[in-house]
Amino acid sequence: MYAAKDSNGLRLYDSELDTNSPERLALIADLRRAVERRELEVAYQPKVDPRTGQVVGAEALARWRHPERGPIPPDVFIPLAEHSGLVWPLTLHVLELALRRRADWARAGHDLHVAVNLSPNSLLDAALPELVARLLAETGNPAHALTLEITESTILADPAGSRATLDRLHALGVQLSIDDFGTGYSSLGRLRELPIHEVKIDKSFVQRMAVDHRDRAVVRSAVQLGHALDMRVVAEGVEDADTYAYLADEGCDVVQGYLLSRPLPPEEFSSWMNARSRNVTHTYG
Ligand code: C2E
Ligand code: MG
Ligand code: MG
Ligand code: MG
Repeated sequence: MYAAKDSNGLRLYDSELDTNSPERLALIADLRRAVERRELEVAYQPKVDPRTGQVVGAEALARWRHPERGPIPPDVFIPLAEHSGLVWPLTLHVLELALRRRADWARAGHDLHVAVNLSPNSLLDAALPELVARLLAETGNPAHALTLEITESTILADPAGSRATLDRLHALGVQLSIDDFGTGYSSLGRLRELPIHEVKIDKSFVQRMAVDHRDRAVVRSAVQLGHALDMRVVAEGVEDADTYAYLADEGCDVVQGYLLSRPLPPEEFSSWMNARSRNVTHTYG
């Protein structure tokens, strides 16, 4: 489940990480040290309105560069953090960095929203709404400029508990997004009951929609459903111009993917924004 390959070609296998192997324990110890020393960084991936080409926001994605192993993907270290009590300090660290960054962008004249991912344990922590409120105030950001992304499976794991926290976050004015939509088999009825502002269609549907009419049908119905429920619809994993054009045609509100940009370190994100605002047209066709 955690099988992954980092950019140095190192493989981390299920068997190494699923058990209490020395390998896994060592990695957790290293992660604990990195979190304590606040060494984790955040990359930002732009989100664009496909009808206007405007940059509307960015997703904050945690990055960990291990001193010996090099970059470890979040699909590996987030589950480790989740299972070793580290996800709470990790989430607060990412939230704080992302909110400071978004305040910098606003000061530079870019009124963007920033999206932060929440893992199951951080969503279910009763202290989350208060901490979010405090961080918003400390960093001088309006609540509506923050989007919190939660997966369907997180909500399904504890519908009542997550509902309570989502209601409190909603009351603060924070925007809530269902991430990886389409992979969790959630019932439409349940989604309708939640205070959700946005659905993000999973990249597994988006990536093949230009070549597979069945994926296109899934994306089209997700866009229609989202709009019928008064939600903003985002597509992740947009890698080519045809897909971008299809999404614009289908009425998708926001797109995100390698076609526009990979997730970037903060300084590169700012340069990317500046270069882009100097260009008047943004065509991908
Ligand atoms: P996600 O929230 O669904 O984020 C989107 C992932 O898709 C990111 O992977 C991003 O780099 C990747 N991506 C973006 N555009 C494209 C594209 O065009 N093609 C392809 N193939 N991939 C694309 P990343 O950064 O490796 O993150 C993986 C997952 O790890 C995230 O999925 C999220 O669930 C989790 N994650 C990352 N940072 C955090 C964090 O701070 N907290 C929590 N709880 N989870 C995080
Ligand atoms: Mg996300
Ligand atoms: Mg996603
Ligand atoms: Mg994902």
